Amino acid sequence: MAASAHPDVMDKLVSLCKRRGFIFQSSEIYGGTGSVWDYGPLGVELKKNLKELWWTSMVRLRDDVEGLDAAILMHPKTWEASGHVAGFSDPLVDCKVCKGRFRADKLEDARCPQKPSRQPGQHDACQLTEPRMFNLMFKTFMGPVEESASTIYLRPETAQGIFVNFLNVQQSCRQKVPFGIAQIGKAFRNEITPGNFIFRTREFEQMEMQFFVEPGTDMEHFERWKADRMAWHQSLGLSAGRLQYHEHATGELAHYARAAFDINFDFGGTLGFQEIEGIHNRGDFDLSQHQQFSGKKLEYFDQQANKRYLPYVIETSVGADRTTLAVLVNGYREEAVAGEDEGRVVLGLHPALAPIKAAVFPLTKKDGQPEIASKLADELRRAFNTDYDETGSIGKRYRRQDEVGTPFCVTIDSETANDQSVTIRERDSLAQVRVQLDQVRGWVQSRITA
Ligand code: ATP
Repeated sequence: MAASAHPDVMDKLVSLCKRRGFIFQSSEIYGGTGSVWDYGPLGVELKKNLKELWWTSMVRLRDDVEGLDAAILMHPKTWEASGHVAGFSDPLVDCKVCKGRFRADKLEDARCPQKPSRQPGQHDACQLTEPRMFNLMFKTFMGPVEESASTIYLRPETAQGIFVNFLNVQQSCRQKVPFGIAQIGKAFRNEITPGNFIFRTREFEQMEMQFFVEPGTDMEHFERWKADRMAWHQSLGLSAGRLQYHEHATGELAHYARAAFDINFDFGGTLGFQEIEGIHNRGDFDLSQHQQFSGKKLEYFDQQANKRYLPYVIETSVGADRTTLAVLVNGYREEAVAGEDEGRVVLGLHPALAPIKAAVFPLTKKDGQPEIASKLADELRRAFNTDYDETGSIGKRYRRQDEVGTPFCVTIDSETANDQSVTIRERDSLAQVRVQLDQVRGWVQSRITA
């Protein structure tokens, strides 16, 4: 894979995320759990904001998409019908020498542990085994008896919860085809080669939407969703030059898929362009499989045309964690500051995504400034996430907020008590404006919505 023109900021981000409470390694005090991560106080706000933007654009603002929150544990037959029991596998190869374990179809993305300039298998000493298929689903048991009859799986995708509820939602909401069902939820995959921070993890969140359409109209819906989803990623502030479509060629297409495009984001360094979302035309594969395995009719009855049919499905499937990583990578920058020796680190997050929307500082701890400032912070908290900070020089306080992406810093100074005005400083332009105390909430609010 060609190296990206953008620098590799992953190590710096991992350290910033830990230091500032975005993301911690799971069970760190026990040495960590492989490729599982915990979101700290700022990380949980960031990911929540991202999920809310998705939910708003996909469900709230649309008349033709309904929300759902299906359970993680599903009837085991679900995964036979979906094809996951038989086919959700990756080819695994081991190196007999270094004991490394790799995905045979992604060797070009991996490094030989003994000679990192080469990929596994290219170093003289490498001895790779023949590939064997490894199922990625986590298995456990339902109830007290650990026997095959009680085997159950942690869902490897949220989509199947939508398919099995297709008629429940359609009938309870009196929806007419074309319409969609969307949900956000956890998914689990026992990945062979997880890594790159939260890019590929074993527990992650997906935001998926299945749009049910009349056969024959599927390609026009597919094209529209393809364009809509790209526009959404750009609306998050991901730069257009770092986003591109990747079309699945015939050999890459799943056997049931009629068309598939990924939206790839350039993560920089050697990782480069990688999938963050998949848009698939799945035909009627899923509904017909569930119909066959459950013995229940899942056809839609079109009253106007007086006909029954199995709708085709256009799916949009995006990772909440992977997109969180994309906005972090996209936003991270180091820059010089005019007139200062030390530069600054900035997380240029879209204000709607920023975990803290405004920080309030008293310039000094005298003249009643802390009282005015904390009263203002309390008022702002009722509308959006707000930080209050009175420690260190004003320059240090700005730096602390810049590196976590806070778009606005509000300073109370000696003039405030006289003229009821404060200074608001904008993160990216560094522009400062004077705003009346009672206008601050509205001023910030109008600038943090997407
Ligand atoms: P990949 O080829 O990277 O394994 P995939 O094609 O298997 O991904 P899908 O099954 O289409 O991925 O899942 C849809 C989205 O879910 C992906 O675009 C990605 O954002 C997210 N996703 C999938 N697997 C993981 C994972 N292990 N960790 C984090 N996010 C994931």
